[in-house]
Amino acid sequence: VIEFRDVEKHFGDKTVLKDLNFSVERGERVTLIGPSGSGKTTILRLVMTLEELSAGYIYIDGQPLAYEQRNGKRMPVSSREQKKIRTRIGMVFQQFNLFPNMTVMQNITEAPIHVLGKSKDEATARARELLEQVGVPDKADAHPTQLSGGQQQRVAIARALAMDPEILLLDEVTSALDPEVVGDVLQVLRDVAENTNVTMLIVTHEMSFARDVSHRVMMFDGGKVVESNDPETIFTNPSNERTRQFLSAVL
Ligand code: ATP
Repeated sequence: VIEFRDVEKHFGDKTVLKDLNFSVERGERVTLIGPSGSGKTTILRLVMTLEELSAGYIYIDGQPLAYEQRNGKRMPVSSREQKKIRTRIGMVFQQFNLFPNMTVMQNITEAPIHVLGKSKDEATARARELLEQVGVPDKADAHPTQLSGGQQQRVAIARALAMDPEILLLDEVTSALDPEVVGDVLQVLRDVAENTNVTMLIVTHEMSFARDVSHRVMMFDGGKVVESNDPETIFTNPSNERTRQFLSAVL
């Protein structure tokens, strides 16, 4: 469902990703691990089209996301087409990124109404279900600033799910939270993983979460995949020396 083909990403003259090739199957949950600066967040931002793709191609369900090959040339995909594909992808950020001037309910229903064309009633009913599911049923009328970090992140998860995404991108979603609420927010995501078939691409420093929830873990270093395997193998018997070093530092 996600395919990276010969992907490169440069920021100025700094190369962050090079010759990157991998794919993620439908319903698969893949966690990206690796040292700080290895390009994990950049990969999620490329899938969300929040970063320009320097070279190569990304396909979503076989459809080119940002660039396509036309008559042997690399051509940009129209912004209309990009937007259409992007509606199938949801993202939850480290810093929540809720719209501060909107209520929780407005945050969750804005895109379903304006992008998917749902009626206000339908979007509101679904939002209420989701607020219940993520554990903040009584916060619909609150503004984000009135919520704790953990509550804001629950709302951000509900907002992403409200679009019924095929792909959910999770970018260090617990890194900005107080330690005592991390477990609760991860439990919400464990439930999502268990009860839906949504494809997940996850960047996290929470190794026990990665181990429980992922079908596959990919270790990055220097902008490349150095090892890709099931979590059991990666965490107990990694074959790559860099993976071993990284895990012994973080576990
Ligand atoms: P971390 O775990 O610390 O978040 P990461 O593996 O997610 O690390 P990225 O955030 O993807 O790494 O960043 C990869 C590299 O790209 C870093 O060296 C970073 O400084 C650089 N980088 C990211 N965004 C930009 C930007 N907008 N301009 C310049 N350099 C950037």
